[in-house]
Amino acid sequence: MEGIQSVVQLTSYLVSGRALFVIIHILGVVCFAYIVAKRLVPLVRGQRDLRFDQPLVRLGRVLKFWLGQWKQPRYKTAGTIHIFIFAGFIVLAMRAFTTLIVGVSENFVMPGLSGKAGPIYNTITDYAATVVFLCMVIAVIRRLVFKPARYAVPARFGKAHTPDAIFLLALIAILMVADSLFAAAKAAAESQQGQPLEVLAVFSLPWMLQSILASITLPTLGRLYFGAYLLHEVTFYFLLCYRPFGIQFHVETSLFNIYFAKLDREILKPVRWGVSEEHLDQVKSFGVKTFEDFTWKHMLDFYTCADCGRCSDNCPANAVGRPLSPRFITTKARDYAFQHYPMFGKSGNGKPLIGNIYSEDEIWSCTTCGACEAECPLLVEYIDKIVDLRRGMIDDGNVPQSLQKPLKALESRGNPYGKMEKKKADWTKAKEFQQDCNVKVVDGKNGADTLYFVDSITSFDDRMQSIGRATAKILKHVGENFGILGSAEKDSGHEVRRFGEETLFMALRDHNVEAIKASGVKRIVTADPHAYNALKHDYKDVPPVEHISQVIAREVKTGKIQFNPVENASSVYTYHDPCYLGRHNDIYDDPRDVLDAIPGLKRVEMTRSRDRSFCCGGGGLMLFYEPKEDQRMGVKRVQMAAEAGANVIVTACPFCMVNIEDAIKVAGLEGKMTAIDLAELVEKQIAGESQTVA
Ligand code: SF4
Ligand code: SF4
Repeated sequence: MEGIQSVVQLTSYLVSGRALFVIIHILGVVCFAYIVAKRLVPLVRGQRDLRFDQPLVRLGRVLKFWLGQWKQPRYKTAGTIHIFIFAGFIVLAMRAFTTLIVGVSENFVMPGLSGKAGPIYNTITDYAATVVFLCMVIAVIRRLVFKPARYAVPARFGKAHTPDAIFLLALIAILMVADSLFAAAKAAAESQQGQPLEVLAVFSLPWMLQSILASITLPTLGRLYFGAYLLHEVTFYFLLCYRPFGIQFHVETSLFNIYFAKLDREILKPVRWGVSEEHLDQVKSFGVKTFEDFTWKHMLDFYTCADCGRCSDNCPANAVGRPLSPRFITTKARDYAFQHYPMFGKSGNGKPLIGNIYSEDEIWSCTTCGACEAECPLLVEYIDKIVDLRRGMIDDGNVPQSLQKPLKALESRGNPYGKMEKKKADWTKAKEFQQDCNVKVVDGKNGADTLYFVDSITSFDDRMQSIGRATAKILKHVGENFGILGSAEKDSGHEVRRFGEETLFMALRDHNVEAIKASGVKRIVTADPHAYNALKHDYKDVPPVEHISQVIAREVKTGKIQFNPVENASSVYTYHDPCYLGRHNDIYDDPRDVLDAIPGLKRVEMTRSRDRSFCCGGGGLMLFYEPKEDQRMGVKRVQMAAEAGANVIVTACPFCMVNIEDAIKVAGLEGKMTAIDLAELVEKQIAGESQTVA
């Protein structure tokens, strides 16, 4: 090029352009490699995690969640901005690489871009640089002026990362300006020299800069050209090496984090990967106690979190002021990793996490509802980590006072209430109910096709027994040959496992599996989503299991279940998705289809529904735990139902029923709002059946 030289030929004060850029490249790449190698040290020291199976499925998820940015639109403004930035980065990647190479090899053209494709690609990248620049400006304004609440960091969780975020956004904006100025200076010089002109995309950032530079002298253009190139190189490598020190590390790690993300979300991780249950007694320490007890994948999660706050924004524990906000479970661990695995010097400190970076209450506050995981665009996992931290506390004998009694009762009696086993089937003995429905106890002698697995809360809680009776009546109505295990049934252990008591869970499970096998049933039905989740995902070698809502939906379709119209036309119903039916098992439509099949039933949807449903607060032994909180989750949920215009909340889980009915009283809505279980409502509305369940 005449007039302005190529960047290779330009001479700085000390060295030729080529030498300068070779030095920058080498320094940049070596620094980046060193930093990444240091960041990998804790992962190498972390626990095993088997994430190398099903490569095609994993690649598919990379296409969906990484390349396709699947979860970003759940937050419209931030999501749209992110999609534009991500798309811009992908488009600009080749241009950035070409620009880097041009510094040492002036005639370099990316293969495939030497012909007609070149100008087309350049036009696209001109616009991409412009869009990314504008997105940076918008993102900075959002952070500084509009300050979305979810970015705030309460003092108890540490410092806000806003300055870091702004600095990084500014660096990316500088990179875009430098890239555009480089192209604009070159085009302006070519224009002045009457050379064949590289056309810049109209109204793009390079195009606008070219218009500004049109009247500048050639020597000044030359300096601008060189300066823009140098700025681009330095900013590029600085960004590359700076990102692993903060939230922008996700640019490098997100692809890997999504590839290695958990495929079977519902199955809790084992106590130790690679150690079978039979050999658990050889494990010296259960769960996570120190940072190095996390698995390498969980550490990768810590690096990958973009600090967007969506998990916490949807966390019910955070919403009611409990001392838990999932985002900070991650950012505190990341800060710990950065502090204790420095770039230079000794790494690791082995101090317990509980008491140093996490509090006990923080970890007990989780209901394992899964809202955080459903929301995270980068598939960061929380439940396994929280359960692992609980396993660690339990292993150290660190059990909250209020949970000691139910745990002892589970050990001795197989239920958290400490009731006698022989009373397990007492709910079937209500006089009126027995006249309609005789529930048999299945064992080796009395067989049945279907087992109704009742679980503890429905068996022993006076109010919830009504759900059991309604379920039994529905099964009878559809002609099911069913029975219960009676005293042979112990608690499913679902909450016990999520509480971190793996050994007790295993004992309960093994007892139930044996009893189920001995009963000879071909399938299992339950009305309790927690039991459903346990039987489906935590148990092995048991017959297929269905939730009663699935049975009802199917029988409505076959015509075996028909409904009378609702009596009270002024009732407005809303359906509350139980976490372990909806989010954990994707059963959203069956209960709604059933409600919509009842003639005259008016149903409204709460804003937070389906996979954004708001937990009632009942999961993870929470019925027995008294967390510190400003408000009960159930109360917040009842208020949401009232805001939606409903006066009847339908749910399909006895745990939800306990919390919601209680919350109606606490919220002062008695007489204005009622709650009913789907099974109870169905039994009440079935055409031609007795309408008494109590
Ligand atoms: S599982 Fe639910 S309660 Fe626990 S951290 Fe996630 S959103 Fe919060
Ligand atoms: S864990 Fe996911 S949702 Fe939560 S702040 Fe990090 S990136 Fe955002």
